[in-house]
Amino acid sequence: MRAKKSFGQHFLKDQSVVRRIVTSLAPINEDLIVEVGPGTGVLTEELSPVARELVLIEADREMIPDLEMKFPNARLFRADAAKVDFSDVTHSKSWILVGNLPYNASAAILANAIESENPPGRMVVMVQKEQGDRMRAQPGETGLLSVVVQLCYDVKKLFDVPPSVFIPKPRVNSSVLSLVRKGDAPDLESYRGIVGIAKAGFSSRRKQLHKNLSRVSVASSEQVKNALEELGLSPKSRAQELSIEQWTKLNTLLHDSITP
Ligand code: SAH
Repeated sequence: MRAKKSFGQHFLKDQSVVRRIVTSLAPINEDLIVEVGPGTGVLTEELSPVARELVLIEADREMIPDLEMKFPNARLFRADAAKVDFSDVTHSKSWILVGNLPYNASAAILANAIESENPPGRMVVMVQKEQGDRMRAQPGETGLLSVVVQLCYDVKKLFDVPPSVFIPKPRVNSSVLSLVRKGDAPDLESYRGIVGIAKAGFSSRRKQLHKNLSRVSVASSEQVKNALEELGLSPKSRAQELSIEQWTKLNTLLHDSITP
């Protein structure tokens, strides 16, 4: 089968990488494993025996007949994982998201899972190395993806993966990351508030936070500066300098100063 660029297809050919991904999942107490982008099923083959129930989400319809044949016990969806309703697919069961993700869509797929009514308790995903670094970034170097991911998950890099283990070889290095849902992850409404502010805050990285937020009328320049001072931050702070805790508090402070 010819790999398609549009679907970000790079198939794993190294069984030891596949095994390391699956081993990292143990012990599995969740009801369900959802694999995103099973492709030819290299990873699926190792997941199938360890999963109580297996759901496969694959966008490329040409992959579907083979997957159906190889994994008759899995529930298979031909769908875009950046858009699929994960709570619908998982029936409010506890679940793990696993996948060697298509790199052009990995951020959208992760955000879609995180924003689900029934988000995954854990994820083990392979992404482009730089993307993984952004997901784990610390204050001073964060971006919107760091905030989206770290608000709800503890993120750890498990190992790096060189281009040589894929067919066709990607031009970039990859990393396998583990994400574990935080006990104190915000509910969906607070999450949306915080991410809304972060989105506006990161709209121009070179500008100070109060400028970005007042430009899109999230709050006035004064309100933002006052809130930053209350958080012990300089009023001149830029979005990438805030910690997750500070984003959360900033949301509360601005919310309180806007709504009477
Ligand atoms: N897991 C396989 C394939 C990884 S390549 C392996 O490791 O060998 C990425 C896979 O994701 C491909 O099968 C591709 O068709 C699929 N894919 C691409 N975009 C997708 C999307 N938006 N939703 C679900 N699957 C997608």
